[in-house]
Amino acid sequence: MGRSPLADAELSKIWICKKCKARNRAGSTKCRRCGYPALRPKRKDVKAKK
Ligand SMILES: [Zn+2]
Repeated sequence: MGRSPLADAELSKIWICKKCKARNRAGSTKCRRCGYPALRPKRKDVKAKK
């Protein structure tokens, strides 16, 4: 399934700001770039759209 366990781990450690899309480390409560408190974990579930 996953390309590599390492890559999956790396992705799961990245949280994306819903406002500015900046990458934040997992565990962050708010974006370090804009301070927006809504972050979502980056999932490897994303498949390339056509
Ligand atoms: Zn942000």
